[in-house]
Amino acid sequence: MRIGHGYDVHRLVEGRRLILGGVDIPHNVGLLGHSDADVLTHAVMDAILGALGMGDIGHLFPDTDPAYAGADSLGLAARLVPLMQNHGLSIGNVDATIIAQAPKLAPHLPQMKENLARALGTEPSRINIKATTEEKLGFTGEKLGIAAHAVCLLI
Ligand code: MG
Repeated sequence: MRIGHGYDVHRLVEGRRLILGGVDIPHNVGLLGHSDADVLTHAVMDAILGALGMGDIGHLFPDTDPAYAGADSLGLAARLVPLMQNHGLSIGNVDATIIAQAPKLAPHLPQMKENLARALGTEPSRINIKATTEEKLGFTGEKLGIAAHAVCLLI
């Protein structure tokens, strides 16, 4: 068994889409980034890479590389499957938390779980996604950005 942890933050700005776990969520602001800025998928990917002992997504998919401009993060996540297979590993389980003051994310969590499971070549039952606010405190509370934490066990 191998365990990994991931953490990511993206800034909320006008004129960008809000994509979390591959779900395009209607909102007045979206996440800024070189890729689609899917902060949840990035945290999950970093947890997997942590478990593999392979650094982080910035190392694997540099944001200075034009190939990843506007990239679909779920598509990048799918590229971790052969890396896991090379190590004789697959997803044991993933547990992730999105920290956002707005919008309400609960209705979208089942679709995020489906999307991540499909990208990572596993069943939705192995993926858990939670959402919380920070009670209007700090940068997430002030709606300046969204953060995500994830842990992953590979077996
Ligand atoms: Mg990121």
